[in-house]
Amino acid sequence: MIKTILQITILFITLFVSGCVKEIKNNDIKTDKVNFALVLHGGAGFIYEGRYSKEEEEQYIYKINEALNLGYEILENNGSAVDAVETVIRVLEDSPLFNAGKGAVLNDEGNAELDASIMSGKDLSAGGVASLKHIKNPITLARFVMEHSPHVLMFGDGAEKFADEFGLEKVDNSYFKTDRMLDEYNNLKNKDKASLEHKNKKYGTVGCAALDKNGNLAAGTSTGGMMGKKYGRVGDSPIIGAGTYANNKTCALSATGHGEFFIRNVVTHDISALMEYKGLTIKEAADQVINKKLKTQNALGGVIGLDKYGNVAMSYNTQGMFRGYRISGAEPVVKLYKD
Ligand code: ASP
Repeated sequence: MIKTILQITILFITLFVSGCVKEIKNNDIKTDKVNFALVLHGGAGFIYEGRYSKEEEEQYIYKINEALNLGYEILENNGSAVDAVETVIRVLEDSPLFNAGKGAVLNDEGNAELDASIMSGKDLSAGGVASLKHIKNPITLARFVMEHSPHVLMFGDGAEKFADEFGLEKVDNSYFKTDRMLDEYNNLKNKDKASLEHKNKKYGTVGCAALDKNGNLAAGTSTGGMMGKKYGRVGDSPIIGAGTYANNKTCALSATGHGEFFIRNVVTHDISALMEYKGLTIKEAADQVINKKLKTQNALGGVIGLDKYGNVAMSYNTQGMFRGYRISGAEPVVKLYKD
């Protein structure tokens, strides 16, 4: 009798231990896939071979590499995904090459009005800022909204006043206006009609998604919006679920494109939902939304993202998208044109 009880107990212990080992193994496969990773975009649009001089191409490639490597260094040194996203976006905001921070497009009054957002997939905390005229790095203010306020979205003068509480760097609006943008603005034929950069010229909203060593995801986006936009117009970039979304359960995403469509289609959340509820991979989900759903609406743009295992997605329905990624242990990959 005692022998039988002992045998049954041993059997149960064996089954239990093998179950645990199996569980641990499965978890290992998932989390070991990549240690950390980041991906960024510098806008999607009429970006095709021949459109840029060799020198311009080199400038874009150099800046994208610089941003990727800085973000990589942060993640490698155990920095958080949020830290990497903010740092990468600040580099791109400070560059006049992109439509974010310095070099932003101008509204119908000839002023820069900047939008940005950031989200942490760990706890779904998020911060967005819109219609800023003096904050040098909108992505940093978005992070302050996320981490130091009970709110998610702050706008205009109120947001700038909030920035003062933390001594964030402010500049005159002229700091953002480059000669290239002033020329574009002056050439606008019909100033009542916002001309979407993606339709003709390319200026480049910026965004980044990162996965850190702790398995946390984050994403952020920063933009000047659309050239000639009506003053006060807010696009998708500061709207959580439209231009930016991150959720450790699924993915981290940043979008670029015709903001009104991206808001109406809740693009980044839609991609995450397809993964969560339908089990699609990040690539399948991003392609479905960008290349099927939006395409049928003639809505131009793209999205970059990472899933919780470090798989990268870079989908766009335009001719090209400035983009790059770097996975732990590997060299950066930078692309401007269609593969
Ligand atoms: N999505 C941005 C907006 O509509 C523009 C862009 O991505 O270029 O404000």
